[in-house]
Amino acid sequence: FDQREGHIWLDGAFVEWKSAKIHVLTHGLHYASCVYEGERVYSGRVFRLRDHTDRLYRSAAMLDFALPYTKDELEAATAKLIEMNGIVDGYVRPVAWRGSEQISTSARASRIHVALACWSWPSYFDPEAKKRGITLETAAWRRPPPSSSPFAAKASSHYMIATLCKHRAEDNGFQDALMLDWRGRIAEATSANIFFARDSELHTPAPDCFLDGITRQTVIELARERNLTVIERAILPDELGTFSECFVTGTAAEVCPVSRIDQHAFTPSALTFDLMSAYADLVRQPAGAAIHA
Ligand code: PMP
Repeated sequence: FDQREGHIWLDGAFVEWKSAKIHVLTHGLHYASCVYEGERVYSGRVFRLRDHTDRLYRSAAMLDFALPYTKDELEAATAKLIEMNGIVDGYVRPVAWRGSEQISTSARASRIHVALACWSWPSYFDPEAKKRGITLETAAWRRPPPSSSPFAAKASSHYMIATLCKHRAEDNGFQDALMLDWRGRIAEATSANIFFARDSELHTPAPDCFLDGITRQTVIELARERNLTVIERAILPDELGTFSECFVTGTAAEVCPVSRIDQHAFTPSALTFDLMSAYADLVRQPAGAAIHA
């Protein structure tokens, strides 16, 4: 990944992809003082860019630091970078972290760094699996309680258990893991939110200890526009058998059907496919035409 051609925006300048390097004593690496975003580019434009930018700045504030650029500067750099790298349909990864000036839990002397990278990335899950539905295995690790970390921050530290869970699920032949929260309620996949359907009702866990995804919010609006009832509530694993459809949502995953969680099978059907195509249409609408405009 680090030997590609192209450019990366690093601390205010466009640099060669291969030379976008950081010091080994980076605080963000040792102490996880790092926040990031995941944005998708459709036809050369980032979908809901300002929402992602706002979340990046909020995430940094939750980790006690501020980015040394304005949102407009960062978004202008994003647009330029997409153009320089010739990305039509792809992904943008903004990241902000504390530098190497101070190796200690106190890190006030550390400089704040910001980088933007982007690459072509048509599909997160294999496109065939996206039609058939992916499989999830319930993970052993659980999302921590809201009193244990600022869960609404898209902070790197939250992804350590996500990687462990995803590896275990992959080892066992599943595409992703289903994470429960600390109470044992259904929370989310490792990098996507989850929805269940029954008749014309959509049920999704209330995001009280995990990321309330931008895609999740978009899909809730699309569902309500289609007169589906959306219920945000506590969902327990022993309810899985009562739902007929299931899908996950995320910037990278988009709307992706789930065909199985552990031994529970779901049949991706009209409701899931309608929302998938509604989302696919929306993300390619010209700027300003989005439902939030
Ligand atoms: N939960 C987690 C843990 C994630 O990493 C993501 C991806 N950012 C999501 C949910 C979905 O969020 P979004 O729709 O904003 O991409």
